Amino acid sequence: MSVTVLRTIREIRDHLANVRHKATVGCVATMGALHEGHAALIHRARRECDFVVVTIFVNRIQFNQSADFECYPRSLERDVDYCDPLGVDIVFAPDETEMYPTPTDTHVEVSRLTDHLCGASRPGHFRGVTTVVMKLFEIIQPHRAYFGEKDAQQLAVIRRMVRDLNVPVTIVGVPIVREPDGLALSSRNQHLSQEERRMATVLYRALEAARTAAGEGECRAGTLKKTAKATLAEEPDVRLDYLEVVDADEMQPIETLTGPARIAVAAWVGETRLIDNIAVSPAESGGE
Ligand code: AMP
Repeated sequence: MSVTVLRTIREIRDHLANVRHKATVGCVATMGALHEGHAALIHRARRECDFVVVTIFVNRIQFNQSADFECYPRSLERDVDYCDPLGVDIVFAPDETEMYPTPTDTHVEVSRLTDHLCGASRPGHFRGVTTVVMKLFEIIQPHRAYFGEKDAQQLAVIRRMVRDLNVPVTIVGVPIVREPDGLALSSRNQHLSQEERRMATVLYRALEAARTAAGEGECRAGTLKKTAKATLAEEPDVRLDYLEVVDADEMQPIETLTGPARIAVAAWVGETRLIDNIAVSPAESGGE
């Protein structure tokens, strides 16, 4: 096995001190239970960087429900085996006392972009995310960091944090990896029963229906949402948390499609909350 597993901040700092000046360091931050979605980020980092660090840390402070934190899948040994053939150089897997030796009094908080969607549904979530990502950036000091469009609001929030705080890292967004039936890969899919797994496909179908409507010229967000909701109604046991049409840059709700946008959805399938989104743009006008 060629991947090196490091558990302490001291070790990874020492290791990278010899690497950083002669190599581009790429960072993929994860909470583990790795799947092909994470692999897409790692592949991209591998292509663009000389040295790839994958972090695995289930970050308690970004969970707004402690049961969700306790139940989050953890599989470090399997994750390390998963990383090895992908050409990862270092897996950084600190434990909680390493990252938070005392409860943190310092947080990084991005306002406005976190007012809607998951920011509204999961109070404190993004503050936990930006705080841990900033800590990881300080520890690793990567040249490039890779985040999935699966968490498009998170990606927008991190881009904003990096811009606002002049963090010298390039943020790279990577497209969503889906199962053949459209379900976006997620570590949380492991929690779904067979029946829930089947029901969960309605999320992507709903997003696709709205995108098709946009492609046919519909640009009113309200109508796009109605279209998606009509598909969601096919699975009455899927409980909608939010469905929004937002601008692609900042993920702020919009009324009318005038440029690149996303339709974002969050829903409960049984006890599991899933999120997904799809890119939409206004239809090319037919012209005269
Ligand atoms: P997580 O381990 O869920 O915190 O995710 C770590 C990173 O992987 C985040 O940047 C996610 O957006 C990204 N990611 C998770 N699932 C997918 C997916 N299906 N496609 C693309 N990126 C993903």
